[in-house]
Amino acid sequence: MNPQSELSKLPAVDHLLQMEPVAALISSYGHTWVVDAIRAVLAALRQEILSGAPAPTAPQIVERIELTIEQQAAPTLRPVINAAGVILHTNLGRAPLSSSVVAAMAWIGPVYSNLEYDLAAGQRGSRYIHAEDLLMRLTGAQAALVVNNNAAAVLLALSALARDREVIISRSQLVEIGGGFRIPEVLAASSARLVEVGTTNRTYVHDYQAAVTPQTAAILRVHQSNFRLQGFVHQPALHELAELAHDQRLLLVDDLGSGTLLPTELYGLPHEPTVQESLEAGADLVTFSGDKLLGGPQAGIIVGRAELVARLREFPLTRALRVDKTAIAGIQANLLHYAHGEAQQAIPVWRMIAATAGEIHARAEAFLLKLGETTLDWHLIPGRSMIGGGALPEESLPTTLLALPVPSAQRLAAALRRGDPPVVARVEEDTLLFDLRTVLPEQEDMLAERLRSVLAGIAF
Ligand SMILES: *Cc1c(COP(=O)(O)O)cnc(C)c1O
Repeated sequence: MNPQSELSKLPAVDHLLQMEPVAALISSYGHTWVVDAIRAVLAALRQEILSGAPAPTAPQIVERIELTIEQQAAPTLRPVINAAGVILHTNLGRAPLSSSVVAAMAWIGPVYSNLEYDLAAGQRGSRYIHAEDLLMRLTGAQAALVVNNNAAAVLLALSALARDREVIISRSQLVEIGGGFRIPEVLAASSARLVEVGTTNRTYVHDYQAAVTPQTAAILRVHQSNFRLQGFVHQPALHELAELAHDQRLLLVDDLGSGTLLPTELYGLPHEPTVQESLEAGADLVTFSGDKLLGGPQAGIIVGRAELVARLREFPLTRALRVDKTAIAGIQANLLHYAHGEAQQAIPVWRMIAATAGEIHARAEAFLLKLGETTLDWHLIPGRSMIGGGALPEESLPTTLLALPVPSAQRLAAALRRGDPPVVARVEEDTLLFDLRTVLPEQEDMLAERLRSVLAGIAF
């Protein structure tokens, strides 16, 4: 086959544009999009022909153009099976939502609602009241405010309460959270002036005290969410900082990061400070995420003293950080799980945390049966599931891993990621590892299906 004569068989762009199915594409997607797709397909075909392929027929080319546009017009965000065993995987969307949360979002999404309408008075109301009452009851706070995420919550608190004034923070807490959220940069963005005290490993109350000036507005405590300092370390207890702050008429803002309403130590994890404890210790404002250990939709939650929360609500930036109605519906439904005392059973993140090693082992054994007859060398090995970068980063829970030693583990892992639904597994050395702790039970059949199809034809 002569590539040059094959190349000359390729139709011109204008010729393809005249064809019936292409005209239909233009009426849906517009001329520019379709011409771009035609050019891309023709360019790819030229490469293939130069590598020895025959020229396709015009209808075959049209089919490829349709397929190209179909792919370009498909949603890029789609479900993934997390078999990596990281419960709060920030790159995989953090907390999977409970069915009640999803139902609440679907309930409010398609209809009008009293989002900002006071039904009793028949006049304008506030969107910020909706989760407030529940948050007050659950945390014991005087008031609460929900914004877009915890980064927004910290930015808002500092902007509204410490603009052009000083905020004292320990050097051990000048942290970077994933995704480029750095405490010093957030302070800069809020126009508060950062005053660093102490050393990387040790900071005392008197360090804070010595830094107080007439310009000081607040002490900020930041939870070391994603790393641990060990050894010769010291941090004042939160109540000591509260005493100092209140003696000096300063505010104490506690950025808890994840924040939890449930005691993590009940699940074999170290104690993660709870929101209630921070308030009891005397923090004036506590900020935390809605989608870390709280296990709900993305949100930043601020709880604390009523007059401070009222100032935040009035602050103009709040308007830019506000949450959407479906998010409010979901956040409320998630908080209701705590109110009903059913968080551990109803919230997927807590179900995953609460699953015992024995339960996961039983699931893994049943899963191997589901995979069916295979010549592959599957076996079950003990391993650890991670809580994840969003909270308790170093902490893990005992689990049972499905392990498959294969010479081409990386290549198979890539094939698993590419298919539908994509599967994210772990690879260690030449072994593929799957942790069912983070695989939702309703995804197990799909996971088995993907494994069967990707592993079919591998021989040893
Ligand atoms: C995660 C985290 C944040 C950012 O919270 P988002 O909800 O991701 O915006 C801020 N501070 C701390 C200490 C965190 O752990």
